Amino acid sequence: ELILAFESSCDETSVAVVKNGDVILSNIIATQINSHKRFGGVVPEVASRHHVEEITMIIDDALTEAGVSYDDLDAVAVTYGPGLVGSLLVGVEAAKTLAWAHHLPLIPVNHMAGHIYAAAFVQKLEYPLLALMVSGGHTELVMLTAPGEFSIIGETRDDAAGEAYDKVGRVLGITYPAGKEIDRLAHIGKDTFHFPRAMSDSDNLDFSFSGLKSAFINTKHHADQLGETLSREDLAASFQAAVVDVLVEKTMHALAMHPVKQLVVAGGVAANQGLREALSARLAVDMPDVEMIVPPLRLCGDNGAMVGAAAHIMRAKHVFADETLNANPNLNFDRANV
Ligand code: ATP
Ligand code: MG
Ligand code: FE
Repeated sequence: ELILAFESSCDETSVAVVKNGDVILSNIIATQINSHKRFGGVVPEVASRHHVEEITMIIDDALTEAGVSYDDLDAVAVTYGPGLVGSLLVGVEAAKTLAWAHHLPLIPVNHMAGHIYAAAFVQKLEYPLLALMVSGGHTELVMLTAPGEFSIIGETRDDAAGEAYDKVGRVLGITYPAGKEIDRLAHIGKDTFHFPRAMSDSDNLDFSFSGLKSAFINTKHHADQLGETLSREDLAASFQAAVVDVLVEKTMHALAMHPVKQLVVAGGVAANQGLREALSARLAVDMPDVEMIVPPLRLCGDNGAMVGAAAHIMRAKHVFADETLNANPNLNFDRANV
């Protein structure tokens, strides 16, 4: 089975060819980060224009690198939400056009499902499984009771983890996206500020990062006013320690409530070394039977291959779309009643 998969929900234009849901034949990723850096975040109009300019060439590159032609394909898949509407539409229109022109079925993919199924390239997945989804726009604990069956059991009430990294990075003068650089600084510094860990001992599985963000900003501004210079490394280490503590604590809590064999860590923040280390160390002690699966760095951020992996699952479930498929910027999994 060969699927041509499109991803254009934010600031990466990507097209991949994925075989049987777990083999990457090609995964071309064009990032627009340099165009958005000077604005301190993604500018929607700029993003969609870049997608339009790039996509045709990226489709050609993906097919060429995979060594396949349209006749070899079994389906076309595309992220149709959540994300920026103008960005999503570029991928959706391209995928619809190609599916129609080449008489191929069209598979609609939820971007978050894509992030989770990036794990399929690492390991055969076993259900039920729990996913810790940590990205630029989302922070969620997602239960998968069966392939392609998602329910949210915990989520952020304010900022997403990646969003908090990027906002704090701004205060430290780090260009967008700041996660990777803060992660680097954090490994040099020490947790000397002891920022608040929100709700880490309450009984629900929801997250909150806005209090931490405010505490960080206040500490920095206060020092600036007094003319004091705080260690950037220690600030980064203290911020990261607080984020990681909350993510680890809530994940362990979720695992205690919902026994599973596998924990998938997904999304851009899954690239965080501090999080990977803390989570695997804690699992080894408290839940040695739970297997942690983290996609390789290149598959943590937005990419077409993860969309192809999720599309493989959706195809088996006969989830198809027709030419009326539209972008859905607010697409989300349902919240479970737990
Ligand atoms: P969403 O998937 O919710 O729609 P998105 O696609 O913009 O949002 P991703 O591309 O999955 O998000 O992830 C980007 C985010 O990951 C950014 O906020 C970035 O700062 C963060 N990030 C990347 N690397 C790291 C890292 N090593 N540590 C922490 N955060 C990181
Ligand atoms: Mg991105
Ligand atoms: Fe994403």
